[in-house]
Order: sequence, then C-alpha cells, then structure tokens
Amino acid sequence: MSGAAQNVFHFKLVLLGDASVGKSCLVVRFAKGEFYEYQEPTIGAAFMTQTVNLNSEVVKYEIWDTAGQERYKSLVPMYYRGAAAAVIVYDITSKESFDAAKGWVSELQGTNTLIALAGNKVDLEASRVVEREAVRAYAEQMGVLFMETSAKSGQNVQELFREIAVRLPKDS
Ligand code: GDP
Repeated sequence: MSGAAQNVFHFKLVLLGDASVGKSCLVVRFAKGEFYEYQEPTIGAAFMTQTVNLNSEVVKYEIWDTAGQERYKSLVPMYYRGAAAAVIVYDITSKESFDAAKGWVSELQGTNTLIALAGNKVDLEASRVVEREAVRAYAEQMGVLFMETSAKSGQNVQELFREIAVRLPKDS
C-alpha cells in the first residue's frame, strides 16, 4: 500500500553573502552531499533543486546561488525578489563578511522573505573572529533564524534547510 498523499510545496530560496563565504559549497553539500575544496566561482547565479521531507509535507526548494562579487551586486535584487527564503551567509573567520551579512538582513527586513543567517566554516574554530553568542543575540533581536554551519564537515547543513522548511508558511 502506498503512503498517504503528501502536500508538495515549492519555494524559491536564495543564498546571499560575500564572495568566498561558502554559499556554493553549502548548496552543493545540501543538494548533493558533497564538498569540493575548489568550487568554481559562481557567475551571476546558479540554480539547483532539492527536496526536504517533513512529516506530511514535501518542500521542494528552487535554490538560486548568487555570486558574491561586487560587480554582480546590482543583479541580486532580481534573485531575491519573490523568494520565500533567503540564506544570508557569512564566514565565522571574517568580520567583514558578517558586516556584509548584516547589510543583507537590513535590506531584506520588512519583506515577506524568511531570513536565515548562516555562520559558515565553523570547522575553522581556531580562526574564529565572529562570536557565536553575539550573533545569536543579534539574530534574536532581528527575528531571523541563525545557525552555524560547515559545508566542509556537513555540520548543520541539512538542519538549516530543514528548519527553514518547517518555518515556511504552507498556506498557499
Ligand atoms: P562562495 O563564493 O560564497 O560561493 O564560496 P564557495 O562556496 O566558492 O567557497 C569559497 C571557499 O571556501 C572554497 O575554497 C571552499 O572550499 C571554502 N569553503 C566553503 N565552505 C567551507 C567550510 O564550511 N569550511 C571550510 N574550511 N572551507 C569552506
């Protein structure tokens, strides 16, 4: 006997953040379960899909991985417009990347997009400069989801996308 019919929901999700924070690696880790030390720089934006199975729902993500380079910055609003969720990524070893992430949080606040902040490269704990507790307090204040991740080890990557799937409103 086949299982009960499941509701399938499609959501557009974008990744934002400085170049080299690990956006492409996070998407590849999530969608394919793999990690490459050398990931081709994203030109403009790359597209992938992946599914998260919740209890009675299936969430299908259409993922847009944007290029972090300054010269593509003007293109980014085109990708996040209409996105159900945005994963704003910084690198825990780069204060500059966290400042940029805060800029993206401000830019997306007040829109209908669910915001998740990902402090990536948590495997590089010895080189950490962005304190976890400070970001946790900031995220709470801004009302955004926050997790520290490692595309390299896989730590919290599935959890991040799963938690977003749980939180996304399924009323449409
Ligand atoms: P993007 O420009 O934000 O898409 O960054 P990439 O995904 O291209 O990653 C940039 C560099 O950081 C690459 O050399 C990756 O191998 C490395 N990288 C990405 N994620 C991690 C991680 O979680 N830990 C470590 N140690 N390196 C990472």
